[in-house]
Formats: sequence, structure tokens, C-alpha cells
Amino acid sequence: KPMENRITDIGPPHFAQFFPPVIKKNYGKWKSHEIIQPGVIKYTSETGDVLFAVRVGCPRLVTTDYIREVCEIADKYCDGYVRWTTRNNIEFHVTDEEKLRALLDDLKSRKFPGGSQKFPVGGTGAGVTNIVHTQGWVHCHTPAIDASGVVKAVMDELFDYFGSHKLPAQVRIALACCLNMCGAVHCSDIAILGIHRKPPLIEDDRLQHVCEIPLVVASCPLGAIKPATVEINGEKKKTVRVNQERCMFCGNCYTMCPAMPLADGEGDGIAILVGGKISNRISPPKFSKLVIPFIPNEPPRWPTTVKWIKKILETYAQHARKYERLGEWAERIGWERFFELCEIPFTEKSIDDYRLAYDTYRTSLHFKF
Ligand code: SF4
Ligand code: SF4
Repeated sequence: KPMENRITDIGPPHFAQFFPPVIKKNYGKWKSHEIIQPGVIKYTSETGDVLFAVRVGCPRLVTTDYIREVCEIADKYCDGYVRWTTRNNIEFHVTDEEKLRALLDDLKSRKFPGGSQKFPVGGTGAGVTNIVHTQGWVHCHTPAIDASGVVKAVMDELFDYFGSHKLPAQVRIALACCLNMCGAVHCSDIAILGIHRKPPLIEDDRLQHVCEIPLVVASCPLGAIKPATVEINGEKKKTVRVNQERCMFCGNCYTMCPAMPLADGEGDGIAILVGGKISNRISPPKFSKLVIPFIPNEPPRWPTTVKWIKKILETYAQHARKYERLGEWAERIGWERFFELCEIPFTEKSIDDYRLAYDTYRTSLHFKF
């Protein structure tokens, strides 16, 4: 009884009230599901009801006109119900095959002015679904890269894998624009991670006027910040100092204190990690591993990042066994062979070395610069 005793005047309203009638009726009774074609999942309930979910790729940042069009489609075919998945796909739900065919034809007919598909159907099964990603330069304090721009550049290149099942298994791609990782970078088949490579600058003259020093000290996950006092033009100023050897360039301090910027046009860039997953099918869940430590930031189309992701994906597609996820394939053939086949240079930066943990925290399973 999900609605019972729930306080609804705080937080989002309970999701159950937005269920389409067929989902409300069959809640907890769905017996099986199958992907009947790329992008279309058929659910069958023990009551005999069926539901077709049509998955459509959607950019994460959309215009109000676009949303109006989505609502118009939902009104026409789905009694006004529509949902967005955690990977920013749109799902339209219909309950009979006739409506399904009409909906698919309608979606196919809608194009952007340049002729590209506006509502591509796909993102299921052994393909690439939408990239789960963060906000990047649009709104956050600490990004090292853009998010939507990189995702657009990558997905344009991988578009064929969205509407097909040509891969050995599903490939989940994620992007986080800093290592605080609002995206699922730690557990994705291919992960794009924005990284800073320098500690924050400290603007001593204004820090005490714009920042709460205890808050700044507490914001550092590595305990690298301590209070300090400096003299500027004969005036004593309260400020902070950063133990640079300990800093992992996360930017949490900048989130708390605008006098500690760490964005850097040349130092910031992208790291690529691969082989993570959350599924426990065939093998237990895995963390992603760092394979390319640094690629420069190259807006507006990030060609080097796109090239490497395509190379990794296509090498996996060519060599892995059916149902094998990217990390399972790399572990079966050995990571040395993975680097060889993908033609990724193996450098000392790819090696973890816990001995350094005695005098610096700037080392972990994935990060060492
Ligand atoms: Fe902000 Fe980092 Fe999250 Fe990107 S990943 S939105 S920079 S906290
Ligand atoms: Fe600490 Fe992160 Fe700031 Fe470095 S960037 S001082 S690790 S909070």
C-alpha cells in the first residue's frame, strides 16, 4: 500500500499516482517481458493484460516546443501518459498492437528540419542506450568538461547502435563532468569522466569576505585544507592553505567557496574508464577501470574522445562473445590484450600503486596523475 501514511507536502509527489491505468491495475503482477524489436518491450501480466513500451531517444536538455510535441503524442496514443527513464529516454506505453504500429509510424515520420529523426526508437537490449550524464557547464560549479556537448558528439557517432541489436550485449555509457560523479561513471561499460588536474587557486585577499572558513575546511573529503592567516598590504587576512600533495582536484572546496577556483582551460580534460556494470548476470558487478588517463577538452565536437570510444566499442563488438559485457570480455582475454586490441597506449599512469598512499592520497584504483 504505497500511498498509506505518506507525507506528501514535502518532496516529490508519490509516483504511484502517475501510473497509467494498466500499470496501476497490474502493479506487482507482471509476469514476463520480451524485446520484440529494438526499442519495443512487450510486458505480459498474469491477468492476461499486455503493455508495449516504446523507447525513444531524447536529448536531456530540451525545448518547451519539444516537450509539447511529446505530450501531443502521448495524448494521441497513450491517454496522456508518458514517462522519462533514468537514461533520459522517453517511453510511450500502449496496450494493443494496432496502436503500437500507428505510434511507431507516427514517430518515424517526425523529423528535424535537417531531415534527421526527431524521435528515434531504440535503446534496448544488445545496443547502446542513451548516455546517462550530468550537467556540465550548464549549471554546476565544478565541471571540468561540458556534459551535453560531449554526449551529443559521442551519440551522433554511435547512433546506429541505438536502434539495433548488433552488439554482443548491452553497452551502458555514462558521463560525469567531474569526479564527484553525478553520472554512473564508476559502474558503466564505457565511462567518460571530466577531470581537473590542478589544485584550487586561493584568492587570499577576498576569501574571508566570501567564504565561511570552517565550512571550506570541512568540505574537503581528504582533509587537505587548513585555516591560515596571511598579511596583505600590512593587513592580516584569514584564509586557507591546501596540502597540494593530498588534493585530488575534486572541486568540493570551490562549491563552498568561490575564492578557490580550480577550472583550467588547458589542465582540464577527459579520462575514459571501461568495464564497469551493475548487473550480476554471468559475473558479479564491477567497477570501471581507467584506460585513458587524459584527453584534452576539445569543444564543440570532442573528436579525440569520440574516436577512442568508437574504437573501444567496435573492438569489443568484433571480439566479445554473445552476452559478454565489455568488462567480462576484457577480463577473459586479459587487460594487456584489451590494450593491444584497442590500440590504447599503456603508460605508467594506468598502473595503480598503493605504495604512494603513504605520502599522498592522490592515488586510487582509478586516478593517478
Ligand atoms: Fe557538477 Fe561534478 Fe555533478 Fe558534473 S559530475 S554536475 S561537475 S558535481
Ligand atoms: Fe580538497 Fe577537493 Fe579542494 Fe582538493 S579540490 S582541496 S581535494 S576539496
